Amino acid sequence: MNQRVSAEQAGTGGDGGIARRILESPTSATVRIADLASTLRRQGVKVVDFSAGRASEHTPEYICRVASEALLGGDTHQTMAQGTPEYRAACARKLLRENGLEADPETEIVATFGCKNGLTLALLAIMNPGDELILEDPGFVSYAPTIRFLGGVPVTVPLEPELGHRWREERLRAAVTPRTKAILFCSPHNPTGTVHTPEELDMIGRVASDHGLYVISDEIYERVTWGGRSHTCIATRPGMRERTITLMGLTKTASMGGWRIGFAFAPPPVIEAMVMGQQHLTTCVGSFTQAGAAVAFGEPPPPALTEMWKEWEERCAFMTSALDALPGVSCAMPEGGFYAWADITGTGESSEALAERLLKDHHIAVVPGSAFGDQGEGYLRITCVKSWEDLKEGVKRLKEALG
Ligand code: PMP
Repeated sequence: MNQRVSAEQAGTGGDGGIARRILESPTSATVRIADLASTLRRQGVKVVDFSAGRASEHTPEYICRVASEALLGGDTHQTMAQGTPEYRAACARKLLRENGLEADPETEIVATFGCKNGLTLALLAIMNPGDELILEDPGFVSYAPTIRFLGGVPVTVPLEPELGHRWREERLRAAVTPRTKAILFCSPHNPTGTVHTPEELDMIGRVASDHGLYVISDEIYERVTWGGRSHTCIATRPGMRERTITLMGLTKTASMGGWRIGFAFAPPPVIEAMVMGQQHLTTCVGSFTQAGAAVAFGEPPPPALTEMWKEWEERCAFMTSALDALPGVSCAMPEGGFYAWADITGTGESSEALAERLLKDHHIAVVPGSAFGDQGEGYLRITCVKSWEDLKEGVKRLKEALG
């Protein structure tokens, strides 16, 4: 408030001189839940937190060691805007080894500060003001605001629960207009856990090809798929490589959210345009973080990662079956990623009301489904990759709240 008064005194206007793109951006329900949870914690309450999309583990030591050695060894200076040749080569090795994609690290890869920065650079590269981007509802909370910040228009197409939270081709096609520039989607999906098969990716690819659209594919959860499923990059499907911007990162699957590191793989002209954006916005991604991430992507995942992922599948199975057993709740095991997407329509409460009651009365933080779009109403998103102690305590409290 004080800031606003002083802004008025400065003659910058009643809105404090803040741009409409910020003022018109809704505060996300995830932030509101996180704020409430931290207020409770400050009051000494032990909150079991299933809201944040991160695992309880820290980054494996072998990755930290490489970054620390780089830092202590003088790797403290800015790098090429596109990222170090060593990091880009490591990303190319990863794409070949794990995804069957042969990428040229010189022209087809750019280092990013994670997938969010990758998305910003991708939009800067291909989207003109007024262009429309098609996205999923429910979908990741930051997509629409990022598109709007850059003058684009997000157009959501509902995922259909009866198709296992997938798009129906007719509805996806019906959303395309002469202003559509790209289709943005995420598989494994946050929040529903859907993993697309090659045939389902081909449906999205057909729509994109028929209308000359780019595809932006957020693959941040691609290393964690369950029940023997595997991840397919849409860029490997026929005719898709030349129209796809693939975003990958280490935030989720290597517990490296604080490092802010990832990369994008795209056709050379798009990478060139993204590098132009990176030069002016940030100069480059951190030098020693690239050194650490090069080992995380460049070498086949050792047991420090594979054992952790195996255990995450067990935690997801434990949490989803415990949720499914609660009255009024129905919850399936995710196909990939690490969230339970629990249908709570049987409780008769709205997702916001239930999330707020769980937090205030039972000290469990979850995200109301409505935070992810209109189609998320009737669901809660619960992060399953927390410690066993937290999972068990959380289930006990959920039973008290809903039992
Ligand atoms: N995309 C999705 C679908 C996510 O769930 C998240 C993290 N919540 C991000 C992107 C952010 O990724 P990064 O940390 O790599 O920017």
